[in-house]
Amino acid sequence: MNQNYKLLLMSTPVGALGTGQGGGVELTVQNIAQELQKRGHQLEVVAPEGSFLTGVAVTGIAGNSQIAVQTQTRDVPIILPENSTLGNMWEYARQVQSKYDLIVNCAFDWLPFYLTPFFSTPIAHFISMGSMTQAADEIMERMAKLHPDRIGVYTKSQAETFAFAEVCEILSSAIDLALYDFCETPGDSLAWLGRIAPEKALEDAVAAANITKVPLKIYGKIQDQQYWQQIQQDFPDAPIEYMGFLNTADLQQELGQARALLMTPRWIEAFGNVAIEALACGVPVIAYRRGGPSEIVRDGKTGFLVEPDSVPGLVTAIENIDSLSRAACREQAEAEYSLAALGDRFEAWFDKILDN
Ligand code: UDP
Repeated sequence: MNQNYKLLLMSTPVGALGTGQGGGVELTVQNIAQELQKRGHQLEVVAPEGSFLTGVAVTGIAGNSQIAVQTQTRDVPIILPENSTLGNMWEYARQVQSKYDLIVNCAFDWLPFYLTPFFSTPIAHFISMGSMTQAADEIMERMAKLHPDRIGVYTKSQAETFAFAEVCEILSSAIDLALYDFCETPGDSLAWLGRIAPEKALEDAVAAANITKVPLKIYGKIQDQQYWQQIQQDFPDAPIEYMGFLNTADLQQELGQARALLMTPRWIEAFGNVAIEALACGVPVIAYRRGGPSEIVRDGKTGFLVEPDSVPGLVTAIENIDSLSRAACREQAEAEYSLAALGDRFEAWFDKILDN
């Protein structure tokens, strides 16, 4: 049990770590790598060229990025660009595989699943989103039949979007709590945090801010410019301010000032790392009762769970924020989302896969 493993951790190929292009999985890669390295496991992280992790070395791989799958339709065929980063990353993995006990794939892409039976080193797959395309579902299902112990996900809600829900290892998520300061007394604004893209439905949060006239500060990568322009056009008088994409240190300082975090995803959010980042700062979370956030938020205690897609529901929740305890939010983050707890879950999963 818990011997030291040699691990090859394969990141997402949609963009360099640190750019925000990869969304929450970037933070997950940082956290797993940091915690497992601290525990004495030997670890190499492979990621697109230009990637940066705090305290962990990264092997950068050149090439053209993969198109983010959530921007595509369910019937999209498998597409790889010429000189594909994804292809190059897995060619590298093939070459170095004999040095490792286990390869951990964090890419939501067809290729690593397809390649698994061709590798001699076992590959575990950490799936970071719910079901997205028919082609990805099919190859993941095939993998789940071949190696049912090798599929990890964030949450039960996410697992249930797949036909192989019952074999998924639920690994949840975590944050380095030491990086997030508890803020007892907030400012006047609400926060919205994440990739600015249609599946995140920022427009609902903006609509609620427009009705309540409570200012809303927006943080994150603008992934879809046209979508962002449309929101600004649709709500010309909304009290919103775009604050840019911030690194964790700056983000937590800003986030702590928020009265609450609004989470309004239209899709089934696999987890929602921003929810636990907010809780760690003492910021309650107002989220739709759907996907990951519905498993995180304690309704009426550390936030409110609102009927999905209901702007009036968001408005009522905003009016009741002051009934929530910010200390209870921090306490929940400490009790449930520490890096130590995450490390234990991943180690237990690896033990099972490697039969230790
Ligand atoms: N994020 C950030 N700076 C920002 C806004 C967001 O670093 O200004 C990060 C945030 O910390 C979180 C990620 O972006 O880790 C969003 O992840 P989440 O799991 O909420 O959603 P995803 O993008 O994976 O759908």
